[in-house]
Amino acid sequence: MGASVVGIDLGTTNSAVAVVRAGEPEIVPSAAGDRTVPSVVAVDDGRRLVGRPAKNQAVRNCENTVQSIKRSMGETGVTVELDGDRYTPEAVSAMILRRIRRDTEAYLGETVERAVITVPAYFTDRQRQATKDAGEIAGFDVERIVNEPTAAAMAYGVGETMSPGDQRTVVVYDLGGGTFDVSVLEVTEGMFEVVATSGDTDLGGDDWDAELIGWAVERFERDHGVDLREDREAMQRLTEATERAKVALSSRVETELRVPFITSTGAGPQDLEYTLTRSEFEERTAHLVERTIGPTEQAMADAGVSPAGVDEVLLTGGSTRMPAVRRTVERLTGTEPRQGINPDEAVALGAAIQGGVIGGDVEDVLLVDVTPLSLGVEVRGGLFERVIHRNTTIPTRATKDFTTASDGQTEVEIRVYQGERERAAENTLLDEFTLGGIPPAEAGVPRIEVTFTIDTNGIVQVGAEEVNTGTAAGITIEGGVGLPAEEIESMREEARRHETADRRRRQRIEAQNRVEDSIGRTRRLLESDPDEAVAAGLQRVVDDAEQLLEDDPAVEELNRAHDRFEEILSEVDIEERSGGRLPD
Ligand code: AMP
Repeated sequence: MGASVVGIDLGTTNSAVAVVRAGEPEIVPSAAGDRTVPSVVAVDDGRRLVGRPAKNQAVRNCENTVQSIKRSMGETGVTVELDGDRYTPEAVSAMILRRIRRDTEAYLGETVERAVITVPAYFTDRQRQATKDAGEIAGFDVERIVNEPTAAAMAYGVGETMSPGDQRTVVVYDLGGGTFDVSVLEVTEGMFEVVATSGDTDLGGDDWDAELIGWAVERFERDHGVDLREDREAMQRLTEATERAKVALSSRVETELRVPFITSTGAGPQDLEYTLTRSEFEERTAHLVERTIGPTEQAMADAGVSPAGVDEVLLTGGSTRMPAVRRTVERLTGTEPRQGINPDEAVALGAAIQGGVIGGDVEDVLLVDVTPLSLGVEVRGGLFERVIHRNTTIPTRATKDFTTASDGQTEVEIRVYQGERERAAENTLLDEFTLGGIPPAEAGVPRIEVTFTIDTNGIVQVGAEEVNTGTAAGITIEGGVGLPAEEIESMREEARRHETADRRRRQRIEAQNRVEDSIGRTRRLLESDPDEAVAAGLQRVVDDAEQLLEDDPAVEELNRAHDRFEEILSEVDIEERSGGRLPD
């Protein structure tokens, strides 16, 4: 055959791969027989290690080990060093993907070329592109980039048994090794739409481990007077034992944390051996579970759903196996989380279903995703004019009319930003281009259509066209300045914090722009030699307005000035033109 389209969950701590066989998705185990592969790459004694062998030496050999590379995907100029060479995040991810590809080929006994790869719903355009590039470096044809929560919902078959007109609201709570994401999906017959996302890019199972390690190290120091932190070999073994103890406490109420001969003292070799109960563990890590509450409530609020409106809750990520996590999610959503699929496998299984749809092994299911931050351009006064609003379903296309800011302007500068602040400069500049060849005209006369397109992979194209002449220019944002994943949430947060101040500032700049426009229009009118009495009146209003602009006016004063213009201009029958003014 050789036509399978595999589904890959390229995770921060672990990755997994699945494929549809005989109509059902199944996990493809690694060559070592594991159902997930640690997303870790290392060089030890000149040998390149990927996956579990790399993880097993990570603490001892941290200089030559790369972990959590997903956090750096799409960041410009970032490289990591591995055994004297420097690699981009895409190249490191490709090493993991290549290992997955080889293991999958060995397991299936066929070559594997086509893949669907998942990314967090909040991943920017650039991060998606970087993920696609990583897949291609590893020799895959990346057929599709799919949002992780969407894949999870597909794995649970959420859209399958619905009748036309039905709609289900699904919360996907994803707590992995290093990151926490929560998404709200609206599912209609066979169609998935991520309507809101939130999370914490710095929270995951590793934090639970660190809490336990800290506790064990302190206790050992009290008991034996030895600080294990100095001893890398000991810390490597303690890290592994701690994770095992944590995992054990998900199914048992008590366990042993045990590392034989962890160190030697004057009294001979020492074991580390402590009993730990689930309730002690939960008490020690309660603050970590609590950190997931805010983002969960935020995502639900953004999606406009209350617990009563939640139909299903899905858990993904290995850390959701912790009973304290399950209880918290159930309390927050008022819904018992679905069971039945391993939380660390659901995303890969869902990706495999999507792969099956593409490969023709599964009946068609529609996919809809969402853009995490607003996209738009800079207009006069440095304002950000949104063309596509955040949480808009993709693929999408939107067009807005703009015009020139000054008389005789033959070029406009299209500066593309992503973010939620009202001033363009406070958002992230993705790229910029110039549209030239505009026939000289009065400010506000040329009609310039700016169109944004986001494709199914989240890749953005921006075009601008001067409507009368058809002159056009555009760009595809692939290699532009991207946005680190962790910045998205903080950008949204910042926008929320500044919302009121931003709105006021925007109103003021807009009011000022309106007065400036009125001054321009009135000046042009004066040039056309009007009746003397009218001219005197117009000139007075212009002088007053110019004086006002110099005096740092309040919004109300600007609005009054604008009203005066409107009155006087409407008498001489000149209409105001609208449309954002693009800078030159
Ligand atoms: P993921 O990246 O989704 O595979 O999640 C990995 C994280 O899940 C790691 O921090 C693991 O220690 C944690 N994990 C896996 N299984 C369990 C379990 N049974 N109980 C608690 N944590 C677990």
